[in-house]
Amino acid sequence: MKIAERLGIQIVESGFDPGVSGLIVRKDGKVFLGVNETDAAVRKRFTIAHELGHFTLHMGKTLPLGKPIFVDNVAARDQSSSRGLIPEEIEANKFAAELLMPHSFISRDVSKADPRKLVEDLADKYDVSQTAMTLRLTNLGYHLST
Ligand SMILES: [Zn+2]
Repeated sequence: MKIAERLGIQIVESGFDPGVSGLIVRKDGKVFLGVNETDAAVRKRFTIAHELGHFTLHMGKTLPLGKPIFVDNVAARDQSSSRGLIPEEIEANKFAAELLMPHSFISRDVSKADPRKLVEDLADKYDVSQTAMTLRLTNLGYHLST
């Protein structure tokens, strides 16, 4: 993703354990962002955005500010965070959602979309999973008919 490159972050695709979606680590003055190579493209995109959230919000610019590493497994990110257990994960998810699905763009597109396939169309357009788009729309206060 271009934003990561501009921040000087190197993205590495790697074969993590199946439960690990991504990580971000600072080492020798450089920042490496790892994504699980076996994940689907939309999932990788969300992972990168989520890790950028940790970088921006939680890692600080220089040592010793912030944590030097975040490792995300699917359970911690998707389940604990949605149950409100880990504040940093909630923040990183919010950051990712706003980065990939900006509120103002979503508002504009929802008003023009076909309500019968709203989630499908918007997920396609924003290149995110339907799960991520459903969560985003719900969090923004839209009531989805299923
Ligand atoms: Zn995380």
